Parts: sequence; structure tokens; C-alpha cells
Amino acid sequence: MRLFVIFAVLLVPCHAQAQAPKPKDPRPELEIRILFDNMAANKDYLRSWGFSALIDFRGKRILFDSGSDPILLLEHMDKMKIDPKSIDEAFISHHHDDHRRGIYWVFEKNPAMKVHFLDSFGIEAFHAADQVKMKPNRVKGPFELMPGVYSTGPIDGLPPEQALLLETSQGLVMIVGCSHPGIVKMVEAAQKQRKKDSIRVLLGGFHLLKTQADEIRKVVNRLDELKVKIVIPAHCTGDAATEILQSAFGKHSAGAGRWIIMDGKRLEFRTVPLK
Ligand SMILES: [Zn+2]
Ligand SMILES: [Zn+2]
Repeated sequence: MRLFVIFAVLLVPCHAQAQAPKPKDPRPELEIRILFDNMAANKDYLRSWGFSALIDFRGKRILFDSGSDPILLLEHMDKMKIDPKSIDEAFISHHHDDHRRGIYWVFEKNPAMKVHFLDSFGIEAFHAADQVKMKPNRVKGPFELMPGVYSTGPIDGLPPEQALLLETSQGLVMIVGCSHPGIVKMVEAAQKQRKKDSIRVLLGGFHLLKTQADEIRKVVNRLDELKVKIVIPAHCTGDAATEILQSAFGKHSAGAGRWIIMDGKRLEFRTVPLK
């Protein structure tokens, strides 16, 4: 009997080693859902001035900007079956209302969420935060939110703005709100900070609404020189600039209800299904 027990104990570790390896996480490395935009990608979502995107990256969930209409933002989240409590951190690119207004409402539904404001935001941004007992992190320079996710820190402009950078296995993904400092200046700052000479995906508002076509072409040429590969124009980019960008970088577009998926070597666009 004693011999049998010893034999059984010896067998246990061998048996444990023989277990099948853990299955790989089936989720893509990066998913971006456009929650709020000047355009709608799908008739089930409404367009409204502003921008907001939900980012799922390696098991973490980040809200980028929060649109101009909190009720519409929450409606769109509801349609996409996104629970505000599932958001880990929120990142507000700049002070303007069309990027900031929704955050207080989302925070009330998830007071555990970490929120990043620029230190330079106006006093009303912090007053509104006080009202919902939010204590935003006041960003003064570049920092790492979580492994592989960075803020450029404030880039000088009217107003100053921070961009979000994700270091994916396919390269750097950069998300911007309005690009008030100028999109070229922001891309240059991001590359310098991350010591990279290219950007795999650039998404957001590029603020070229009132820019003349020849100026837009200069911006496009410079982005090409900076080895930006995929450009997804949104929000305040403007129709003329969107057209020129699409002819240079491929026919990509954002719009509320768009679901962008990056997995392995693929970059695909899907519209979020309603059910
Ligand atoms: Zn703005
Ligand atoms: Zn804006």
C-alpha cells in the first residue's frame, strides 16, 4: 500500500505536464469602435458633431474622447452592448466640448474609471469634474497609461492637444481628436517620442475643414514622407481633405458605428451589428 502511494505521488507531476496548452485568446489584438462622429457608418447610428472611440487593446478598454452629446454617446454604447463599467481608462484629447462633454456622464456610471485630462484644460472642465467627484489625472508630459499605450503629452496648439499611441505587433497606431496643433506636427512628435520612423494607422479628426487643396496636398505628402501607412479620417477632417487622403492612403473612413479590427496581419473594417 505504502509503495502504491509513493508511486501515485510520483505520477502527479508527469500527469500535470501532459495537460493540453492553454487555448490562445481568440480576441483580436486591437479593436476600435467609433462611438461618435460627424458621419455615421451605419443607418442605426446617428451623426453628430464631435468624436469618440472605444479601444480594446490586449484585454484593456480605453475610451478616447466623449463626443458633444452625452445622451447620444450612451445610446450608441448601449446599441453596441458596451457597459460603461467595463471601461478601464478614459483619455480626453483636448479641452473642447465636442470631445469632453460626454465624459462626466460616463464617469457617473463608472466612478472607478481613471480619467486623463491635460493640465491646461480650462477651469470649467475641472469644475464639472468636481460636480461628479471625478479627480482627473492632470497630464503635463508624455506618459504610459498601461503597457504599450502612451500619451504624447500636450503638443502646443490652440488649444494644446494630446494624442494616444498604441504599440501593436503591426506598428504604431495613433489616434487624434481634432489635431489643432497640426497633424504633421503631432505625427512628428509621436515618432520622436516612440523612436519610430513610421505609423501603421492614423485615425481621427485632422482639422483640415477650411484648408485649401494645395495646402492639404502638402500635408498628405508630408504624412507619406513620414511613412504613415493607413489613414482613417474622421470628425473635423473635412470632405475635400478626406477625398485627397483617401486617394493617397486608400478608401478608409470612420463614422459612428464603424468597427475597426487589427489582428495579426489584417486590418479590416466592419460595421457593428445591432444584435
Ligand atoms: Zn477641437
Ligand atoms: Zn473637435
